[in-house]
Amino acid sequence: MQIAVPREIKTHEYRVALTPAGARELVGRGHSVTVQAGAGEGAGFDDAAYEAAGARVVADAAAVWESAELILKVKEPQPEELARLGSGQTLFTYLHLAADEALTRGLMASGATAIAYETVTDRQGGLPLLAPMSTVAGRMAIQAGAHGLEKAQGGSGVLLPGVPGVPPARVAVIGGGVVGENAARMALGLGAEVTVLDKSIPRLEVLDDRYQGRMRTLFATADAIEATVRESDLVIGAVLVPGAAAPRLVTRAMLAEMRPGSVLLDVAIDQGGCFETSRPTTHAAPTYVVDGIVHYGVANMPGAVARTSTQALTNATLPFVIALADKGWRQALADDPHFLAGLNVHAGQVAYRAVAEAFGLEA
Ligand code: NAD
Repeated sequence: MQIAVPREIKTHEYRVALTPAGARELVGRGHSVTVQAGAGEGAGFDDAAYEAAGARVVADAAAVWESAELILKVKEPQPEELARLGSGQTLFTYLHLAADEALTRGLMASGATAIAYETVTDRQGGLPLLAPMSTVAGRMAIQAGAHGLEKAQGGSGVLLPGVPGVPPARVAVIGGGVVGENAARMALGLGAEVTVLDKSIPRLEVLDDRYQGRMRTLFATADAIEATVRESDLVIGAVLVPGAAAPRLVTRAMLAEMRPGSVLLDVAIDQGGCFETSRPTTHAAPTYVVDGIVHYGVANMPGAVARTSTQALTNATLPFVIALADKGWRQALADDPHFLAGLNVHAGQVAYRAVAEAFGLEA
């Protein structure tokens, strides 16, 4: 199959949809891979590495798109990319269509088959192509939070692990899913005192069992959240209510009870944020201060670590890409109901119920 990997053109997107290692796997199976020149640059993969893997490197974007049967991307197609997409082509990328009617209609008009990373499911009921980015964001949250606690950032001047004779920092993680567990794990690794709050008892059971009581687990009532936040140096917001805006769990009034310079880091900011005082920020200016409390709200945290994120994402997508390339999209989706859940648009029609419902279309 003819597979194309365009250079991402969305502002500040440094990831690429296929690593040279992935290209080598596909070429080894007899497929042809065309990579746009410079596509891997932001993630530290140069053109020569793709060529060494057997891919063809082409400078012209139009030429990369034109001949492809399967197009691999990271971000949703931008208008000039959409204009290049045609029927007979399959696009495999993050789409998030329920939030974007213009893109949905554009994909319908293209006649292409669009499969979204974020709606592919797995046997455990998880989202295997979203989880790697949550893992990255959760781990990074503690790195960013520790930095935010430094005086130069407006922080309280607390070192997460403490030192002999000085107690470690207290870290609260609200929401113990993929982001929350990874944040908690990092905080534990650095020697902080960690409390995870979640509404799901089965989830708290998993964490309690996995970490053998090394982190405190609390059922997330308003009382428990208030009491824990008040005592914490660093609070990570990591809740998710699928298909809904994040609930506001930390109010502005609670900030007055925290030690000045403590840090609120809202990973759930991409769903609106779970602290009343959260607002989206960028990697260029990630923090701001409200009532003496440092806030961090970067909506695309994995972008800061584009190389690790690219490798994590492509490790997860590669088996699906191989299935598409080896069998063609029809057979690949027919063979795997979890992969079929990724089909969002086909032949001018929306194939994913939540997206169709969002815009009053027929699924
Ligand atoms: P997840 O589904 O794995 O975990 C969410 C957890 O929140 C679940 O365990 C759920 O029980 C819990 N929860 C729901 N409502 C709650 C409440 N009221 N109180 C306490 N816990 C509650 O989701 P995830 O993959 O960990 O993602 C968490 C959030 O991080 C999402 O909003 C996701 O979009 C976001 N995210 C952001 C970035 C970024 O760059 N900022 C990157 C990746 C993920």
